[in-house]
Amino acid sequence: MLAGGSDDLIVVNSCAVTSEAVRQTRQTIRRARKANPSARLLVTGCASEVERGMISGMPEVDGLIANDAKLDPRAWNVIAPAQRLPQTRYSRAFVQVQNGCDHTCTFCVIPQGRGPSRSRAIGDVLEDVARHIDAGLHEVVLTGVDLTSWGNDLPGAPQFGRLVAAILAGFPQLARLRLSSIDGAEVDAQLFELTTVEPRMMPHVHLSLQSGDDMVLKRMKRRHSRQDAITLVQSLRERRPEIGLGADMIAGFPTESEAMHRNNLSIIAELGIVHGHVFPFSPRPGTPAVRMPAVDPTRVKSRAAELRKAVAEQREAWLQTLIGERLSVLAETDDSGHAENFAPVKVPKGTRRGTIVTVTPSRIEQGTLV
Ligand code: SF4
Repeated sequence: MLAGGSDDLIVVNSCAVTSEAVRQTRQTIRRARKANPSARLLVTGCASEVERGMISGMPEVDGLIANDAKLDPRAWNVIAPAQRLPQTRYSRAFVQVQNGCDHTCTFCVIPQGRGPSRSRAIGDVLEDVARHIDAGLHEVVLTGVDLTSWGNDLPGAPQFGRLVAAILAGFPQLARLRLSSIDGAEVDAQLFELTTVEPRMMPHVHLSLQSGDDMVLKRMKRRHSRQDAITLVQSLRERRPEIGLGADMIAGFPTESEAMHRNNLSIIAELGIVHGHVFPFSPRPGTPAVRMPAVDPTRVKSRAAELRKAVAEQREAWLQTLIGERLSVLAETDDSGHAENFAPVKVPKGTRRGTIVTVTPSRIEQGTLV
């Protein structure tokens, strides 16, 4: 979640993905109010939809803005587009191409907060990308709640690969195109092809994997099996071995036995997951998983720690293989950035943010190639 604004206005953009995120939202609201007692404090984002009663009941909150309306300046009455931060403050551009989700994963509260999947038209996305390139950015990251479902609701139902191809073809000067989290079950042939052969498509795939156990995946109502994930990653790596793999994973989903947890753990090494987002299961109100037999919270925590440790081991071994390699790195601060495969890398001090430099690391320091 994010709090920002001006002296007389505070905006809290909230998240509801876990109960921890909601707790942090409430904490952010209280802190922001304490630091600025006279400002107008507005809350938007998923928690303000999903936990509407709780958030609007907080004495610190002056009002809520519907998540759908938050990008419309009229909803705020006070924020004009010209007041937005200039994009050049950032090193990479995040372009949201889709919002909402049509799926019903049993642990997920997002469809309640964001509604059904809505895709932006290709022309609209291209205009956005052009604006970022004009502002001097070299990397664009495509984002969405269910990114790879892009297109389902557009005329002719184009697949996501078509949007990616249109961006690459429309902007030959764009050095790097990256995707946020994708659903392995929705990777179409064109997307697969571009990910494996197009050098400007970053060799970095982040899967919305959630679990390595088939029974848990079924109870989550995910649309892939363990073997589906393994087959997809194997075929991607056969054609592009340098791909850095990331995954979202949930520890301690209800009914998860020790054996199921072992399957979750073992898929980390089997796939070579080096960028792991591990979430301890957190029951979200109104979701079917709330009614399933829960795993003891202490066990959920220890399983999450085990998953994180396994990812850290994979990551350390992977970073070792990159020592001595020539890496192209986008500088995000004046002394650090990320390689194409999303490995964190130190760049020579004073490097201009947003530029791409070639670096050959000689060691690892605190998880970063130096
Ligand atoms: S696909 Fe993603 S956003 Fe949609 S319900 Fe499942 S977890 Fe939530």
